Amino acid sequence: MASIRRTLSPARHERLYHNEAAVSSSFTPASQRHLQNGNGKYQSSPHLPLFGVQTLLWRRGWRRSFYRCLLFFILGFFLGIIPFGNIESFPDLKPPLAIVQANDNYVALGIDKKLEDQISELEPEKLLIIVTPTYNRAFQAYFLNRLGQLLRLVKPPLLWIVVEEKAASFETAEILRKTGVMYRHLVTTVNSSIVKDRGVHQRNAALEHMGHHKLDGIVYFADDDNVYSLELFESLRSISRFGTWPVAMLAASKNKAILEGPVCNGSQVIGWHTNEKSKGLRRFHVDMSGFAFNSTILWDPKRWRCPFPNPIRQLDTVKEGFQETTFIEQVVEDESQMEGTPPSCSRILNWHLHLDARNVVYPGGWLLQKNLDVVLPIK
Ligand code: UDP
Ligand code: MN
Repeated sequence: MASIRRTLSPARHERLYHNEAAVSSSFTPASQRHLQNGNGKYQSSPHLPLFGVQTLLWRRGWRRSFYRCLLFFILGFFLGIIPFGNIESFPDLKPPLAIVQANDNYVALGIDKKLEDQISELEPEKLLIIVTPTYNRAFQAYFLNRLGQLLRLVKPPLLWIVVEEKAASFETAEILRKTGVMYRHLVTTVNSSIVKDRGVHQRNAALEHMGHHKLDGIVYFADDDNVYSLELFESLRSISRFGTWPVAMLAASKNKAILEGPVCNGSQVIGWHTNEKSKGLRRFHVDMSGFAFNSTILWDPKRWRCPFPNPIRQLDTVKEGFQETTFIEQVVEDESQMEGTPPSCSRILNWHLHLDARNVVYPGGWLLQKNLDVVLPIK
């Protein structure tokens, strides 16, 4: 049984086949072919018919290998020339098409914008640096959450620098952690109880931070209580040196709305909107939330031929209402260095409403202390 099994087993056949092929590879004619005996000598084969079959098998095997190779070669060749996937999904790397428009007076040469758009998509966006002074009062959570959620909708990169007075509060830290916006939570050590200094020292702490870390982006002072459109933040990235726009605001009396900011011809500033008589003394009629500038002016003033050497700061020595103009005078020489943003300055992008309620109690931890004070009992 064991010997029969061995004879029939494919392994045995294969072994025989290989041996025979090895012997035949001497390329001697079949009639003179010899098999090697155990002593290494050749002798005439006593099994010539068997040898013929073996040769036949070898030839067939050789042919089979050849045809297999040929088959795989052809298969590989066709697989190689068939495109995989959808070629349309690859970016079009062809050079842009030139579009020539002939006219009597000039020839305009344009290029296909598609490739340009693809390249500009790869360029990193300018960093926006939003500076918000804030302090603990009843509406703070509402204001910070509202602004944070808006900033979250702005295309990154955006850095929100939130500056508190005296100490960083747990409540503010909690809100910032949850907004999902990249932020820095700073504290100013300058102690000031003068009302006209609202936010001045906090903004200066942020300016110092930007100068120290050489942050490169567009700086915008966004108080926590103002109302902003998303469009405003999108338009900031087009600013090169100093951009300004008109802001709608409630007059101090709160019984009328006024407009403050530039009058423009395209992006050129040609005049100012202002309603208050005393403001005639100001050089520039811009609200704190009505301008933004390039942060490199703070730490590389030579590059911008800045009228003042460093450090550029908000002043706590000037009369109320003069903080903006005295700051802007350090950043630009005149209107020619300003950019009306967006061009023509005809859109109102944010509102300064002075809605703060300073005397409303600040709830620690945003928790109600007397949660169980039931006014109306449940029946
Ligand atoms: N602010 C502050 N500490 C203060 C008063 C104001 O940090 O003691 C902040 C306030 O949160 C806001 C900015 O400074 O972001 C401007 O303050 P406010 O809105 O009172 O000024 P106004 O709008 O009347 O100029
Ligand atoms: Mn305000």
